[in-house]
Amino acid sequence: QGSISFKDVHFAYDEDRPILKGLSFDVPAGKTVAIVGPSGAGKSTISRLLYRFYDVQEGAITIDGQDVREVTQQSLRCAIGMVPQDTVLFNDTIAYNIRYGRPSATDEEVSAAAEVAQIGTFIRALPHGFDTMVGERGLKLSGGEKQRVAIARTILKAPPILILDEATSALDTTTEQEIQSALDIVSKNRTTLVIAHRLSTVIGADEIIVLRDGKIAERGTHADLLAAD
Ligand code: ADP
Ligand code: ADP
Repeated sequence: QGSISFKDVHFAYDEDRPILKGLSFDVPAGKTVAIVGPSGAGKSTISRLLYRFYDVQEGAITIDGQDVREVTQQSLRCAIGMVPQDTVLFNDTIAYNIRYGRPSATDEEVSAAAEVAQIGTFIRALPHGFDTMVGERGLKLSGGEKQRVAIARTILKAPPILILDEATSALDTTTEQEIQSALDIVSKNRTTLVIAHRLSTVIGADEIIVLRDGKIAERGTHADLLAAD
């Protein structure tokens, strides 16, 4: 469940400057497809179109065969989870931040998600060193820890579709590897669209699409693309 299909998608923010020029690809249910390419190639635009922040001008995007224009905003938001490059947190406890958007989640569910994301030990802490609150110890989260909060949120949400938009690109190499293995767990058996800068960060993807100038320049597995270079 959660297959994605882009069919001959054309898109421009401004009429005279096309960004995507006839883009077609599929993410089969449960598979991972990575979009790589230089900055400005249109990678994030793809996730914005999937979310319907914008509509395509030509072509179509479907989820499980249904045009996203015929799906309600509500069900799109339920179906798609996103781990962005830089997670912005509310100045409240980690538990609050994990539960955000899911008020009916139980304490046990929040704790379980935090455990999987490996932030279970400081779930009661506040993220920004907010030290005026009585009884709470302020804690300044690192970039990696913030991404773990985003991952815990996603575990709690359990969406069929996951978008990882440069989710590790702001991290140092060691942290990047740690977060990558957490993301691998979350994306397992979930339809996943990875947006990345570098080929080396998407080795495990079922297919890698190299986007250049709004078109697919190359596609294949990591091994295929290395062989082609
Ligand atoms: P990438 O994610 O590959 O770096 P983006 O999809 O963010 O690229 O952007 C593709 C192009 O679209 C860039 O040239 C960018 O400047 C332009 N762009 C992005 N958002 C907007 C917008 N809201 N209005 C106009 N142009 C935009
Ligand atoms: P939900 O309660 O279902 O998480 P939200 O409104 O919080 O609903 O967000 C829905 C999804 O949209 C979340 O996975 C969130 O990460 C993502 N999202 C929210 N804002 C943006 C944004 N500006 N760009 C991309 N994705 C976003």
